[in-house]
Amino acid sequence: MIEQTFVALKPDAVQRGLTGEIIKRFEQVGMKIVAMKMVWVTPEFSKKHYREHVDKPFYKGLEEFIIQGPVIGMVLEGVSSVDTVRKMVGSTEPKSAAPGTIRGDFSHHSYSYADQKGIPIKNLIHASGNKKDAEYEIALWFTKSEMHNYKTVHEVHTQ
Ligand code: AMP
Repeated sequence: MIEQTFVALKPDAVQRGLTGEIIKRFEQVGMKIVAMKMVWVTPEFSKKHYREHVDKPFYKGLEEFIIQGPVIGMVLEGVSSVDTVRKMVGSTEPKSAAPGTIRGDFSHHSYSYADQKGIPIKNLIHASGNKKDAEYEIALWFTKSEMHNYKTVHEVHTQ
């Protein structure tokens, strides 16, 4: 039940100064931050991270977006953390994301607006889609020595 997931705060979240607000939400629900770092993603690394999307029409714009500034990558641990974090993040398109979700509360960018302007959808955050992706992404972003083992007060209440 306790599992780990990978989250990246994309360049728009960093540039808009929203990283604290977003990280705070994960802390508030009791997610444990077990790894975190700021990384300027390269095109090569982007292709590894988005390996399932490299052949899709939107990949070119997605890569341009993800490499345009530093991102903050982190590993969050908690009960069903993959699903819980995806729920908190909301739908891929901010315009469709429900109020109360991170994308719904901090953005209203839409596919149609992005397509019209010829720009990628700016949706603030990436979260692993499933447990298998989480394992792949955590291993891609972090070495074993960058993963930290400690106890939070929340763990007392989930045992
Ligand atoms: P996902 O792995 O489903 O989170 O998708 C990765 C990222 O690709 C999303 O967060 C968006 O930035 C982008 N993306 C996914 N689907 C589309 C789409 N239909 N059009 C444009 N960008 C997309």
